[in-house]
Amino acid sequence: MNNRLAFPAAPGVEHLRFANSFASLPAVFYTKLMPTPIPAPYLVAASEQAAQLIGLAPTACASDDFIQIFTGNHAAADSQPLAAVYSGHQFGVWAGQLGDGRAILLGDVAASDGGRLELQLKGSGATPYSRMGDGRAVLRSSIREYLCSEAMAALGIPTSRALSVIGSDQLAMRERPETTAVVTRMAPSFVRFGSFEHWYYNNQAEALRALADYVIAGFYPELLAAENPYQALLAEVTRRTAHLMAQWQAVGFMHGVMNTDNMSILGLTLDYGPFGFMEAYDPRHICNHSDQQGRYAYNQQPQIGHWNCFALGQALLPLIGSVEATEAALSSYQAQYGAKLDELLHAKLGLLSHQPDDDKLLDAMFALMQGSHVDFTLFFRRLGNLRLEQSSADAPLRDLFIDRAAFDAWALQYRARLKMENSQDHSRKLAMDASNPKYVLRNYLAQTAIEHAQNKDFSEVKKLQQILENPFDEQPQHAQYAELPPDWAAGLEVSCSS
Ligand code: AMP
Ligand code: MG
Repeated sequence: MNNRLAFPAAPGVEHLRFANSFASLPAVFYTKLMPTPIPAPYLVAASEQAAQLIGLAPTACASDDFIQIFTGNHAAADSQPLAAVYSGHQFGVWAGQLGDGRAILLGDVAASDGGRLELQLKGSGATPYSRMGDGRAVLRSSIREYLCSEAMAALGIPTSRALSVIGSDQLAMRERPETTAVVTRMAPSFVRFGSFEHWYYNNQAEALRALADYVIAGFYPELLAAENPYQALLAEVTRRTAHLMAQWQAVGFMHGVMNTDNMSILGLTLDYGPFGFMEAYDPRHICNHSDQQGRYAYNQQPQIGHWNCFALGQALLPLIGSVEATEAALSSYQAQYGAKLDELLHAKLGLLSHQPDDDKLLDAMFALMQGSHVDFTLFFRRLGNLRLEQSSADAPLRDLFIDRAAFDAWALQYRARLKMENSQDHSRKLAMDASNPKYVLRNYLAQTAIEHAQNKDFSEVKKLQQILENPFDEQPQHAQYAELPPDWAAGLEVSCSS
């Protein structure tokens, strides 16, 4: 008897059914246009997990159809490609109209969770919003966006996803000529704070309302029942942004360009540019070499997140109806941020309860880390190995500190705090390992993968992405990817050039 099932064929890209809900907005919101083809495209990397989110089999990503569609060289059936308009505040200054200068929305497809995901090409050619830009993205920045999007998702941090990076030998001029690429990004929506600011500052009340209604109906339908849905929208975006900032801080992530045009209305991490993960701990660290004033330094991110919510609030004010109601929606930010950060830091320290002196313990810890330039990721990961009683297991953690006596004094307090709540070594380590990643996308790791890829060896991009898919797992065979950056990495500078 034949007892083998006839498995359905793995779904390929031809199974994607595009719609475009954004295109249901009035025509002033976008320009319909086709991507500009790129010559001789080749697959650099594709994320199997991202592919799964839209029901694509891993093998589908290697097909020629996939490459042609996700460069924009071939139009996907039923897609209605468009570039959206938006504006924004850049470095605190009103910048006026920006828009998708090098991004083209193909449309949205069914997601495996029952929702829909928009697919957007980045680097697919000039649009009416390109201003002086060439509409392209270089391979270097495309790989960084791809790797970090997928790494953040694996860390459990809300983010746009990256389906693929497809390269071309076509050059774009940056500080030097560089080869280009197209990244396909995925998110339920790419609407930004700056999308609302655009209509507010152009005195387009109807368009402003249309956008707010579109966002609420599509992505926050539960708010329709609120007494003032626009106020409820601002309050909910404020809450999500506060939580996102706490998650960034807790993992040492620095975005680098928190302009309002890079802030997602869904509270996702969006528009990866000169981002970085904190290494030698310095709360004033600036990851973006172009940010001379340090507006977006690590320790500024939480308050900039709030400032950006105010910018959104200003734009929504005509819909909300009063300054008081708008300020009320913004007012919970600090409490939301503080509570979330507190929760995350307690988890990072393996603390189950909250005690009045915990802030002092945390402050002392961060001061020590700063004093000894301790690596952020290594510190928390190794802290999980500390036992209630002093032992040789302390050494790798203790060795991170220049001032060992100060560390010993702090460890004494930490141990006393752990004992106060009857903490157990084994279960605490398990819990801490699930909160403190071993692997993050250090700049030097990205740089190494990029340099290999620039020489047409894409194996390092793939390997790094796979390691970062399980950032909390030990993966002893990849332990060198968790190590301190090598000396050459000290000279790495990441700017806005992309
Ligand atoms: P970003 O700083 O990457 O968020 O970009 C800010 C604005 O500049 C957005 O409107 C982008 O679409 C636009 N932009 C950035 N780079 C380019 C480029 N190479 N070509 C066209 N527009 C670009
Ligand atoms: Mg941007």
